[in-house]
Amino acid sequence: MFIKEIEFVNFKSFGKRVKIPFYEGFTAISGPNGSGKSNIIDGILFALGLSGSKTMRAEKLTDLIFNDAKSKQPEFAQVTITFDNSDRKAPVEADEFEISRKIKQTKSGYYSYFYFNGKAVSLTEVHELLGKAGVTPEGYNVVMQGDISQITAKMSPTERRKIIDEIAGVSEFDEKKQKSLAE
Ligand code: ATP
Ligand code: MG
Repeated sequence: MFIKEIEFVNFKSFGKRVKIPFYEGFTAISGPNGSGKSNIIDGILFALGLSGSKTMRAEKLTDLIFNDAKSKQPEFAQVTITFDNSDRKAPVEADEFEISRKIKQTKSGYYSYFYFNGKAVSLTEVHELLGKAGVTPEGYNVVMQGDISQITAKMSPTERRKIIDEIAGVSEFDEKKQKSLAE
């Protein structure tokens, strides 16, 4: 499973509708300072609801809506992520699926909605689906800048080993082994 495309509408610096294609394996994004590279990562955290443990760079959710001094701020921002699911890592019987999140600003406050293939779902449903494909808020699918120094400098060797085991998928077998030894 991999991200095939991200579509931004009024999200942070993406004032218009912008679609960014991704490829299987490795995609690098380059551009001048302030051009919006990190905003793409913020978009992924936002749309997939992974921002619990990682910090999106915005004080409040409505700061994520495009804002420039010239025009009136739009009422909503939306980010849609299309996954390639040809390997069926996610429990969806299709070669691709979409997860989307929208925030809407009204006079009485703001509202946040998640969608799976255009249908409204809860954050828990999004997490359940992604969790089955190994994408979790606590996981290392998205590695933030601060994480690197945390991992390389501040963690004990045992903690570091735990992360590597988790990423390699070994910890799952460790648990099963412990369980069967106990039986
Ligand atoms: P660097 O190379 O310095 O890391 P970057 O390419 O990662 O830069 P970002 O941090 O993604 O750049 O983009 C920052 C830009 O996004 C700033 O110019 C900021 O003004 C703009 N920005 C952030 N939020 C909004 C918003 N709500 N509306 C419009 N522009 C925004
Ligand atoms: Mg950046």
